[in-house]
Amino acid sequence: AYNFSPGPAMLPEPVLRQAQATLLEYADAGASILEISHRGPEFLAVARQAEADLRTLLAIPDDYAVLFTAGGATTVQALLPLNFAAPGQPCDYVISGHWGKTALKQAAPCVDARIAASSEDGGFRDLPPRAQWRLSPEAAYVHVTANETIHGVEWRAIPEAGEVPLVADFSSSIASEPLDVTRFGVIYAGAQKNLGPVGITVVIVRRDLLERAGQARAPILDYRAQLAAESMLNTPPSWNWYVLGLTVRWMLDEGGVAEFARRNARKAALLYAAIDGSGGFYRNEVAPAARSRMNVPFFLHDPALDALFLAEAKQAGLIGLKGHRVLGGMRASLYNAMPEAGVQALVEFMREFQVRHG
Ligand code: PLP
Repeated sequence: AYNFSPGPAMLPEPVLRQAQATLLEYADAGASILEISHRGPEFLAVARQAEADLRTLLAIPDDYAVLFTAGGATTVQALLPLNFAAPGQPCDYVISGHWGKTALKQAAPCVDARIAASSEDGGFRDLPPRAQWRLSPEAAYVHVTANETIHGVEWRAIPEAGEVPLVADFSSSIASEPLDVTRFGVIYAGAQKNLGPVGITVVIVRRDLLERAGQARAPILDYRAQLAAESMLNTPPSWNWYVLGLTVRWMLDEGGVAEFARRNARKAALLYAAIDGSGGFYRNEVAPAARSRMNVPFFLHDPALDALFLAEAKQAGLIGLKGHRVLGGMRASLYNAMPEAGVQALVEFMREFQVRHG
């Protein structure tokens, strides 16, 4: 089956097969990859290779640190103000969907989290234009969400924010195309869309920001301390880290982010063309310039057909298409692990379904 689900993870088959092989015994370590010590030479090699490969894949310069953390992207959202803002300091949030709101909510208890711009009034069907951002010059950072996984809204080019560092949630679009890391103070991403399994999160931080005092926090919540301990202040999610490494290696072997950018552009174009060319049987409501290449929400003209669409899709080997409960309808997630053949099968099914029920 082709799995279009946005989570908990979308993994390429060769990665799953490799991971399976090491479940019983990792290399000649005498134990499963799940069991070997995270401080032993075998796992340290896995962890360091994963970082080196991620740096190659995303062209991360040396003046950026890479952290591998547990707790998901939501925990990063809570730790951003603790690590990078003084108590009560303003932090600006540009809200283009559900996850931008989450980031704001997580920060609000300990900083002056401000909405610099929001497209909520329009139902998050478009991006808040740069001209409408109301930025605070004294802000610790400006937070943006590169791709809104639920609303299917993506910045094709994230605007400049001036002197204040940009902090970007790239959870659902990291590694989907080339990225200029140097434009950002912090880039973070839950691994579970393009980088691997759920349970590990990547935080890419410009090193000078780690010098900020931030706020009182336990060492485990301190990114400087995590960096000094190579992201192993406590037991790291070692299995997730290992599978992340396999996934990153797979992307490099497939041709890297430039190749995935081409594939992702073709997949998205195919699906949007099928939706737009259906004469209103299917519709996507996002402004064309803001449409996500990773998550494509769409609606059937008659919601009474939704259950039938999902049941017939499942029979045709197309699963995970049910839309998020916030929006309803359908959603097709087209992460790097989704082959073009999967999207071709989906648009073919959509055409046939329309013929049968249109
Ligand atoms: N940000 C974005 C863009 C997401 O898509 C998600 C989850 O889907 C999150 C944040 C929250 O991630 P997590 O569940 O890893 O905390």
